Amino acid sequence: MNYKDAEMDLQKLKEKKIIIDDNFNEIQYIKVLNLEQRFATDTLMITVAPTLACNFSCPYCYEYKRKIRMTPDIQKKTIYFIDQRLKSVTNLGIWWYGGEPLLEKKIIWNMAEQLISLCKQHGCKYSAGMTTNGYLLDKRTALKLREQEVLWIQVTLDGPKEVHDKRRVLINGKGTFDRIIENLTNAVDIFSLVKIRVNLDKTNVNQLPELLDSLTEHGLKDKILIYYAPVFSNTSACQDIAENCFSGNEYSRLETQLFREIVEKGYVLAKHPISAIQGCGATHKNTFVIDPYGDIYKCLNIIGFKEEKIGNVILPLEYNPNHLKWLFWDPLSYKKCQDCRLLPACMGGCPYQTLRRNFQEPECREWKDHLGEMLQLNYKSYLQQKTEKNSGKRV
Ligand code: SF4
Ligand code: SF4
Repeated sequence: MNYKDAEMDLQKLKEKKIIIDDNFNEIQYIKVLNLEQRFATDTLMITVAPTLACNFSCPYCYEYKRKIRMTPDIQKKTIYFIDQRLKSVTNLGIWWYGGEPLLEKKIIWNMAEQLISLCKQHGCKYSAGMTTNGYLLDKRTALKLREQEVLWIQVTLDGPKEVHDKRRVLINGKGTFDRIIENLTNAVDIFSLVKIRVNLDKTNVNQLPELLDSLTEHGLKDKILIYYAPVFSNTSACQDIAENCFSGNEYSRLETQLFREIVEKGYVLAKHPISAIQGCGATHKNTFVIDPYGDIYKCLNIIGFKEEKIGNVILPLEYNPNHLKWLFWDPLSYKKCQDCRLLPACMGGCPYQTLRRNFQEPECREWKDHLGEMLQLNYKSYLQQKTEKNSGKRV
């Protein structure tokens, strides 16, 4: 790199406030940007769970399951709740969630049709995504979802076939790997982004490379993003299988090794340090989660826990204590976050983890101890993708 290039790079880093002058108050700057995003009203993000039922019976699943589906009346009230807020909005994002949302396809078709039409009337952009276990995502369903502007899909695979089929099972105990892979093979050509989530604990972490090989064999390598997340022992997710779950420190030590394996297998990393100044969406004024009862929450993790709801679509939304605690959760109230060099890329992590522990300090995870290595791996992954794109191997 010559001197002129280095000067230009330095200038760019300064423009982006990655390098700052000594007299610049970075904390104040971060706070202003964070508040701007939190209280912005141009975008409305709604997660809708048309049902809390699920066709799977995974041993580690903590989700609040109930054979409840959204009634036509609650669908109508949910549409009204959204419509009321569309006047000042330029983007509406809907995320279909559950339970397993594809158990209630008719509700999705019906609500999506109305929401798309309302967005047209308000001159507002509509887009959607879905978290699904992938079992009911046959080609016809995928095409219909795409027709209704579903662009992003997240599906969970917990390992190669023999591992996944022990963990992600139907209610009757049957494995689900083959059907999901078949559905994914179609889905990758239909949606803009298919993300595979792998829930990791001590029993499947060593099989991650095998899963990647299996996805490569099925021709999925260059068409998906891999994302993995640990099942931690300090969450209710792991109450019954605590000995298999990671502590924050154990997982942190494993993280770079996992990243390396993914990069070495030629996969695109779906996890890298980016600006998180906007903070988690759950702390944003215009982000809501609505369950089949019409109860409104701020975070996916508490869906169905009525004591945590902030309101219901049948009533005007109030600033009650449950609501306010999310809007005013502030990582800058913690001394360790204020002093942390990762603050702009972390913003205190997951507020839910802190709230459920009575506002104790956030638990630092993942990159805090190995940021340098992670950045190097991300750069390696970036170069790999660039080379493959230039050679026409990746689109
Ligand atoms: S890494 Fe830890 S200290 Fe730093 S911002 Fe995140 S939670 Fe706070
Ligand atoms: S609070 Fe945590 S679990 Fe809830 S949406 Fe935010 S990051 Fe996710």
